[in-house]
Amino acid sequence: MNDMMQRLRHSYISGLTRPLSWRQQQLQQLTALLNDHEQALLQALEQDLGKSAAEGWLTEIGFLHSDIKHTLKHLRKWMRPRKVSQPLMAWPGKSFLQPEPLGVVLIIGAWNYPLQLLLSPMVAALAAGNCVVLKPSELAPNTAALLARLIPDYLPSEAVQIVTGGAETAQQLLAERFDHIMYTGGGRVGRIVMKAAAEHLTPVTLELGGKSPAVVLADADLKTTARRIAWGKWLNAGQTCIAPDYVLVQDSAKDALVDELRAALESFFGTDASEAEDYGRIVNEQHWQRLVDYLDDGTVVHGGDHDREQKFIAPTLLTDVAVDSKVMEEEIFGPILPIISVPNLATAVEFIRERDKPLALYGFSASARSLQQLTEQTHAGNQCNNDTLMFMLNPELPFGGVGPSGMGRYHGKFGFDTFSHLKAVMQRPFWLDPNFRYPPYTSFKRKL
Ligand code: NAD
Repeated sequence: MNDMMQRLRHSYISGLTRPLSWRQQQLQQLTALLNDHEQALLQALEQDLGKSAAEGWLTEIGFLHSDIKHTLKHLRKWMRPRKVSQPLMAWPGKSFLQPEPLGVVLIIGAWNYPLQLLLSPMVAALAAGNCVVLKPSELAPNTAALLARLIPDYLPSEAVQIVTGGAETAQQLLAERFDHIMYTGGGRVGRIVMKAAAEHLTPVTLELGGKSPAVVLADADLKTTARRIAWGKWLNAGQTCIAPDYVLVQDSAKDALVDELRAALESFFGTDASEAEDYGRIVNEQHWQRLVDYLDDGTVVHGGDHDREQKFIAPTLLTDVAVDSKVMEEEIFGPILPIISVPNLATAVEFIRERDKPLALYGFSASARSLQQLTEQTHAGNQCNNDTLMFMLNPELPFGGVGPSGMGRYHGKFGFDTFSHLKAVMQRPFWLDPNFRYPPYTSFKRKL
């Protein structure tokens, strides 16, 4: 690892990664990798998570293509110095922010979107002119092994390295000095990453998780609400960091919402989701068992079927859930949706404010005023009203958590900026050099 770091640092210092053309070339190479090996990548996702080809394309490969396209389109502009105004005292002259790369950065990915969550940060890091070490999650072993084989064929080893392995490997990497670390995963390991980074005063971006609520008011279009919640929740069998974790629904709409959710689920996955091509599996047996245990925390009003051998858990709706039960205290990260009724928006807001700031928050209502209230009165990394997950498709919106759901942001220009230092530069000519700022500070000068 020491050798690897020295080689990367040497490449960085040599200026290899600085030119726009080099950065563009790497992004084009990544596009070529995704195109040339699309089938193999989709197959690895299927083996790791039972992800259907359509879902793998939509949420991983297609996402990366748009990310790269957007970055290539805007990169020249993002790299330009950003002019700011000059105060009269410092006139004549100019001030600007000069984006410069950080150096050698570490990207640690999670298993649930094992391509997107590793490679999208790399798009930003390479665009910003850095050398990169990638550490994929060991819990998606087929995807990790395939990437480890393909990356060296497409990206120069003097600038990009991929290191596979588990927690021990991650800790060895964390002992090295990086110029930035981006970690995606749970908060427990997030703390380990931040402590290790503190040793070298390395800045971190932490993309963590948490319980993302969906608030449904009685005036919402319940059919559309249910379809949008069901899509966001059961994509990747609920193993999505921004999936709605639980629903707070206004009392009078609860039964109708449950009926609409049932109807949406049946239309998506039929009456037996284990037969549905587009329904995924739980990543491993340990997570499967953790999720099955949650089924005892409430009344199963839909789904509940599970099969250890297939690592299958049906899309499940849970009601009569105690707020101090495990399913309401831990991030679910699986296909179980607790539904809790509340009398009104104010109670929902209070419920959310009493808990950790979530990564995402969803509000459903026909009233713009209610949605505005929800937006203004709660905290969350990202919010999407009258839909779920779709905000991820807008590269003009930053993605990231707040408080326990993370720190820092990326996507589009925000990712470029995360992996850049915006150096503050002031530049002045010699030709005007009035005497008033230099000592001695005579009484006349002091009056100025
Ligand atoms: P994980 O188990 O894949 O771990 C993430 C990374 O941490 C892996 O690369 C792993 O090797 C490494 N790691 C594990 N133990 C370590 C240790 N002791 N020291 C150093 N590194 C270690 O992922 P996970 O934590 O199970 O992921 C699920 C969590 O991630 C959920 O909370 C979810 O919400 C969150 N998540 C967040 C985002 C986001 O973008 N904000 C995306 C996906 C997942």
